[in-house]
Amino acid sequence: MNVSILLILFLYGLIFGSFFNVVGLRVPNKTLFKQKRSYCDTCERTLTWSELIPVWSFIVQRGKCKECKSQISFLYPIMELTTGFLFVFTYYLTGFTSEFVLGLLLIALIIPVTVSDIVYRRIPNRLLLFFSLIFVNYRLFYPLDPIWDSFIGAGFALVLVFLIIVLSKGGMGMGDLKYYTLFGFIFGFSHFLLLFFLSTLYGAVFGIVFAKIKNLGRKAKIPFGPFIGLAALTVFYFGDTLIQWYLNLFL
Ligand SMILES: [Zn+2]
Repeated sequence: MNVSILLILFLYGLIFGSFFNVVGLRVPNKTLFKQKRSYCDTCERTLTWSELIPVWSFIVQRGKCKECKSQISFLYPIMELTTGFLFVFTYYLTGFTSEFVLGLLLIALIIPVTVSDIVYRRIPNRLLLFFSLIFVNYRLFYPLDPIWDSFIGAGFALVLVFLIIVLSKGGMGMGDLKYYTLFGFIFGFSHFLLLFFLSTLYGAVFGIVFAKIKNLGRKAKIPFGPFIGLAALTVFYFGDTLIQWYLNLFL
């Protein structure tokens, strides 16, 4: 394991994380290409280079805009660091392989969707459409074995989550449905089952802890996208190991 490669990937992760966060914040209200350069969301002033350094600028400015002193979203440093660590971890597990490319594409999808769902309670159609095209192309070059596993995964996800939406009346939304279906296509049937199980487990655990802390009732609404994304990453990194471990318990 080459340490300088890990360091470079971490720095790339910080920079891309900053971009993914902006995508998640701006795609839902269609301001991604409003200005060429980065700007403050409150005073709309164009940022100088010293305000654009991931994590560092946030710490130096104590999380506030230099000019208008408005709060900069905590999501910036969190998503920058998360992306940095995920880039490194992906390389650590896969090396420079086709799986590494798949990992980066998943991160590029999951970080903006997570940000958007936390801030706006929405999973933007345009993000899902854009990445659907990319993942369909990826699976043309690197198909699952067997190739139709992608379609079984997507079809199963579509029917399962649609039934849950109809039966639960508002537990999940259409954004979640499309997001799950895309992961069904990417991972195939068995890995999708694991993904679905993990996402509901994460959501339930978080829901219980959140309700305890905030003293809210069971009706408190939390966005589900972040748990789907976290489950997808778990499946990508540890899916084979977890499924093997599960099968060994029963066979
Ligand atoms: Zn400002």
